[in-house]
Parts: sequence; structure tokens; C-alpha cells
Amino acid sequence: MAQYNPASLKAEEFINDEEIRETLAYAEAHKRDLPLINEILEKARPVKQGNGCTCKGLTHREASVLLACDLPEVTERIYQIAEEIKLAFYGNRIVIFAPLYLSNYCVNGCLYCPYHLKNKHIPRKKLTQEEVKAEVIALQDMGHKRLAIEAGEDPVNNPIEYILDCIKTIYSVHHKNGDIRRVNVNIAATTVENYRKLKEAGIGTYILFQETYHKESYLKLHPTGPKHDYDYHTEAMDRAMEGGIDDVGLGVLFGLELYKYEFAGLIMHAEHLEAVHGVGPHTISVPRVKKADDIDPTAFDNGIDDETFAKITACIRLAVPYTGMIISTRETEAVRSKLLRLGVSQVSGGSRTSVGGYTQEERPHDTEQFDVSDQRSLDEVVRWLMENGHIPSFCTACYREGRTGDRFMSLCKNGQILNCCHPNALMTLTEYLVDYASPETKEVGFKMIEEELKRIPKDKVRAIAADNIEAIKNSNRRDFRF
Ligand code: SAM
Repeated sequence: MAQYNPASLKAEEFINDEEIRETLAYAEAHKRDLPLINEILEKARPVKQGNGCTCKGLTHREASVLLACDLPEVTERIYQIAEEIKLAFYGNRIVIFAPLYLSNYCVNGCLYCPYHLKNKHIPRKKLTQEEVKAEVIALQDMGHKRLAIEAGEDPVNNPIEYILDCIKTIYSVHHKNGDIRRVNVNIAATTVENYRKLKEAGIGTYILFQETYHKESYLKLHPTGPKHDYDYHTEAMDRAMEGGIDDVGLGVLFGLELYKYEFAGLIMHAEHLEAVHGVGPHTISVPRVKKADDIDPTAFDNGIDDETFAKITACIRLAVPYTGMIISTRETEAVRSKLLRLGVSQVSGGSRTSVGGYTQEERPHDTEQFDVSDQRSLDEVVRWLMENGHIPSFCTACYREGRTGDRFMSLCKNGQILNCCHPNALMTLTEYLVDYASPETKEVGFKMIEEELKRIPKDKVRAIAADNIEAIKNSNRRDFRF
């Protein structure tokens, strides 16, 4: 039987089934052990250090105890600490992005995804480079600066060369004052050589959802196609890192398997990346299975309610305090609103999950990957965020300044957020307001920027940010950054 070893490169050793089962038994046995729980909560709290804060994070065992605990007062404490961590490391900024679906050709048989090979009643579509350009113009006209590209797995229709061409096209489009400054990539597990090519093409984060860490279920849920290979899929992030990509994004598709199992697996995966590469995941996504063309989410036994979902999110926040957390438009406004307080740092807005969806007047459903619950426009999402005290940020500075991997983490830990990320958020929000926002959103936004500028601690930084904001308002100069 495989032995648990977080530093191993073998899937069955770093995501070790026996270790997960023992963790779940330990968590169950201690779920009301208040002295232990208090100790764990204390360990999770951010501690002031110099100008910044540090956080120890939690092991998968510790975090699993918190997740298992059903005492309402403990849940409240978890939520409070999650919010403290969020504010300490990410401030009140929320980074905005949009998905861009390139192709729904797919040779896999994933049981939860409408793009599976056997689905013969959805049209198959792959964007030409001209169509990519048109989609990017539509996204730029909404105000987006950061995309996550999405594609099915199909070596004939969507080979790596196609993905690379699309990335090149996306970066080459500059419509009016528009720019896509960071392209994150969510495509199937691939080879070190292909990851190297993606790195050379200038991608931001490589995102790959594990879907489920439970091997037996994984094999059943992915009965056919290259994605059936659990080990190849689970070891993908190590190959990505070997190919030079140091920002990787993990995720579980909640609803497929028992959430406590998935949670322990996810945190173990983060621990593994830290143990082997010295840097944890850049982001963690928390998607839930949604209704889609021939997919009925109730067909999966492990759906979770909104309260459990919120608790999972908060426990992830405590376990991996420096990792960004992403929530998509799979979730409703109400759920997103709650999760933003519990540690989420990135949201998508104005999303269309169909191939070629942004250039169509009406939201198309025929090639949609899943039903979008939050159907508000980007302008509405931006205004809503600000009305709830969050600063929508279109910043992409870190990666363009080479602050990736552990360099990004050290910025976080050194408390430089208010002198760096915060002004960057205000400057990119100004760009959005000047170039794309409705009059109501502009009004709310400019008021917020005025107030938020006062919070920048360093006089010099504050003065430069204020000057740049004036330049954006009064000229076509854009893309200022610290
Ligand atoms: N094809 C690539 C792969 O296999 O990893 C990635 C792209 S896929 C377009 C992005 C993600 O959408 C998948 O990893 C899966 O977690 C999620 N997804 C698929 N079907 C879904 C559904 N019915 N509801 C919610 N999310 C879904």
C-alpha cells in the first residue's frame, strides 16, 4: 500500500487515500474537542509582524477538525478569522476576470460536463482567430483586463498550437483604450513541454480543477478519454511547475464526492506543492456542479447546501491564508456576497460560458458549459461590489512585474498591499470608470477612490497614485502600476 509522503511526486503518495481516511476519522473524533479547536483557531489567526502580518495556516488535519465541528459558535469564530485573514492579506480588493471559451470540442467522457464526447445534440464550435479577436474586443468593451481561457480536450481540434495562437491573438488586440493584460489558462493536463510553451506565451496562472481527489470516483466520473488517467491529472501541477509556470490554480468540483474528503485532498495538494516547489497554489477555485445541457446536478449524490459551502470556503481561507480564492458566476449574487466576506479574492463578472458568447446580443445557451446564476452585467457587478465596501480591481501588475510564485507571496507577507496592490487597484478602477462605466457606477466609484486614496500609508506613493488617477481622467494615458 502507498505510504503518505507530501514531498513525493507520485499522486497516490501525496494524495494518499489512507491518510485522508485517517484525517476524517481524526476530525470526527475531535469535532467537539474544544481545547484542541481553540488551539487550532488561535494558530490560524493573523499575527502582526513589522509593517505586515503573518499567518501560520493550518495542516489538512487541523483544518479538517474545524470543518467537521458542528458547534455554531465555532463556525462563527471561523468566519470571523476568515474575514480577518482576508483583510490582512488582500485588503478590501476584489480582482475581476472573465472566462473566454475557445472550443467545446472534447474527447473526454466526463459525466458532469455537457462537452463530453457522446453529447451529440450540442453544436461543436471552435473560434477562429478572427472570432477570438471579436470576442476579445467585446470583452475589452465591457472593461475586462484579465481572462481565463477555457477549452475542451481534443488533440486534433484544440492542439497546444491552437491554444498558443489564441493567446497570441488575445494579447495583440488593443481596441480603443482596451487591453487584455493577463491570460490565465484552464485547459486539460498536458506535458512539461507544453507547459513550457504556455509559459513562453506569457500566461498568468495555469488552472486545472482536480474535480475529485477520490480516485475510485474519479475513474467512474471520467470513464473514457485521456482525462481518465487519475495520476496524470493529479500530477499535472508538478509538470506545470517543471515547465516554469510558478502560479498554479487548484480546484475541486464540489458535489461529485463527499466534501470532507475533497477538502482534505485539496489542502494536501497545497501542502504537496509547498513541500516540493517551495510555493503553494496561487489560487483555489470552489466551483459547484451546475445544471447544463444534458447534465442534472441532482444525479450526483454529494451536493452541498450554501451554508456548508460557506464553511468550506472559510476553512480553506484559514488553512492557506496566502492563496487567492476564486468564485465564478456559477453562484448567485447572494452566495457570492457571503463568500466575499469569508475570503474570496477574485470573482468573474458579466460572464458567458458558451463558445462565441460575448459577440452575441442575447445570452446563447446551445454551447454553454453550465447555467450562469449571476447574470448581471460587469457594470452592475462592479457597482454592487463597491456598494458593499469592496474595491473592484482590474490590476495585473504582479505578474507583469515578475512578482509570481514566492515573490508574490512575500509581497503579501510584508504588508506591502496597502502601498502596492491597493493603489494599483484604485488606478485600474479609475481606468474602468473613465472608459466603460455607467454614470451611476462612475458616481459611486469616484467617491470610493477619493476615500480609499487616503488609506495609502506612504506619502510618496499616495501622491503618485493621485497624479496617475488625474492623468487617467484627463488623458489617454493608461496602465500605470507599482
Ligand atoms: N477541459 C479542461 C479540463 O478538463 O480540465 C478544462 C476546462 S473545463 C471547460 C473547466 C471546468 O468546468 C472543469 O474543470 C469542471 O470542473 C467545470 N465544469 C464542467 N462541467 C460543469 C458543470 N456542469 N457545472 C459546473 N462546472 C462544470
